[in-house]
Amino acid sequence: MRIARWLLILSVLPLIMSACQKAGDDVADTVLLNGSFWTAEPSQPWAEAVAVDGERILRLGRTADIKKLVGTKTRVKDLGGALVLPGFIDCHTHFLKGGFSLSSIQLRDVTSREEFVRRVEVKAQELEDGEWILEGNWDHEQMTPVELPRKEWIDAVSPKNPVCVSRYDLHIVLANSRALEIGGITRSTKSPDGGEIQKDPVTGEPTGILRDAAIDLVMRHIPEPSIKTRVKAAEAALRHARELGVTSVHDMADASNYGASFEVYQELLKEGKLTARIYFYIPIDDIDFLDKLRLKSPYGNGWLSIAGLKGFADGGLGASTAYFFEPYSDNPKNSGLLAPQMFPEGIMEKRLEQADKDGLQVAIHAIGDRANAIILDIFKSIAARNGPRDRRWRIEHAQHLRPEEIKLFGELGVIASVQPFHAIDDGRWAEAKIGMERCRTTYAFKSLLDAGATLALGSDWPVAPLNPLIGIYAAVTRQTTDGKNPGGWFPEQKLSLEEAIKGFTLDGAKTEFSEGEKGSLAEGKLADLVVLDQNLFEITLEKIKDVRVNLTIVGGKIVYDRTESADK
Ligand SMILES: [Zn+2]
Repeated sequence: MRIARWLLILSVLPLIMSACQKAGDDVADTVLLNGSFWTAEPSQPWAEAVAVDGERILRLGRTADIKKLVGTKTRVKDLGGALVLPGFIDCHTHFLKGGFSLSSIQLRDVTSREEFVRRVEVKAQELEDGEWILEGNWDHEQMTPVELPRKEWIDAVSPKNPVCVSRYDLHIVLANSRALEIGGITRSTKSPDGGEIQKDPVTGEPTGILRDAAIDLVMRHIPEPSIKTRVKAAEAALRHARELGVTSVHDMADASNYGASFEVYQELLKEGKLTARIYFYIPIDDIDFLDKLRLKSPYGNGWLSIAGLKGFADGGLGASTAYFFEPYSDNPKNSGLLAPQMFPEGIMEKRLEQADKDGLQVAIHAIGDRANAIILDIFKSIAARNGPRDRRWRIEHAQHLRPEEIKLFGELGVIASVQPFHAIDDGRWAEAKIGMERCRTTYAFKSLLDAGATLALGSDWPVAPLNPLIGIYAAVTRQTTDGKNPGGWFPEQKLSLEEAIKGFTLDGAKTEFSEGEKGSLAEGKLADLVVLDQNLFEITLEKIKDVRVNLTIVGGKIVYDRTESADK
């Protein structure tokens, strides 16, 4: 009898213990209560509270229910009604470049020649002789008078420092005489394919302005930053991202030295210092490398993955190198340029075909209507040849489209990866460049959605600000930055607030094949979320650009808390 009772106790003991353990599992690491959670999930669009266990969302629901998951070690935050969104996913950045730009010369807001020269002078004085002055992000369209800068402006203030500062669209640089000398550029140097060395029409001398492929003649002489300098840039970029609620970024690592950037991310991953998930693109020229590895998109884990391949079909609008069917309205002799990666003819199609066979995702930069048409046409014929597959092809910028191309985005299921800030920025001068008619289907976000395309939103940082709230503001108001379109520039293309947030969250996740893991707030998904200081759904749309992030959580970890940071 006694033995039998003991046996009974022993046999039920594991059941009792597992029940206890189960109860233990149901205690959350962190709970956020009394919030206003917009989930991006149609089945449960709003919730009041969330419980996080490990890196994932354990439960989402009413505060009273979530409170039951609080244990002795649970971190509890009362949000006091604040709005919570899924963490922002930025589908187009040059992330490490952005990190470098945070500490380089700032020319983005310069409106006069005098100020331009003064800032170069100040920077040159900060640096050692021979050190390069780079980045800058100047915008001659906002200078009075509107004129491209020239090397003569800055030669006298930077005699011992080579200068190679970019226009914010990265398609034009200004080089000083020292940099041109290092690049071996003289009056007799011919412009390379896909680029231009601008020469003075009177003297024949280079003016210092280099476009697209010509930029590399100077850039290739810039010494590589050390790994330590790169890590510092990446850390600065990550800090900037978490302060803005950006929990995932797509890094369009266009440069030939992308391996060094990837090395930095691996280093930070190993040290547990990544506070944003990185989805990393490799230049399409290197497709053979991924082919040999038999790498399939996406490769990696939730923190660091190799996305696939990034290529270029043309240049940019500001530099008049975006490739159009019709000439530019302000220059009847110019219809733009195809990018160097389009040569020799047929190479882009060959690479895209190979990528498709390899199962690699591709993201192709196309700005002008003709560049978009060419890429869509290639996509269409590859799909016809190779049959259906979940490809998630992307076109980056998809800026100027004819109605027939807009339709094709939907039909082929091509993701339009667009950056709303460019619309309110370029909207200041796009009409002068390409005329009213083409502008009707420029940055045609709403038409793309209506055509059934997925709209992935991003910033293009450092070309534009990284702040997704500025991107959302731009998408829903389309108010140009010069204040001249208070009702919105081509207002019929405005997105609704929900559409814009989805573009920076769930549709961003779709763009990287990870909508099952993130992009919305749902039980079992990664706990990537952001708490804002104002409710976007309750304020006037103009105010969205001033909203700030109070709290950023990535994988269940609080990576930014404004109440604890020095910067309040
Ligand atoms: Zn870009």
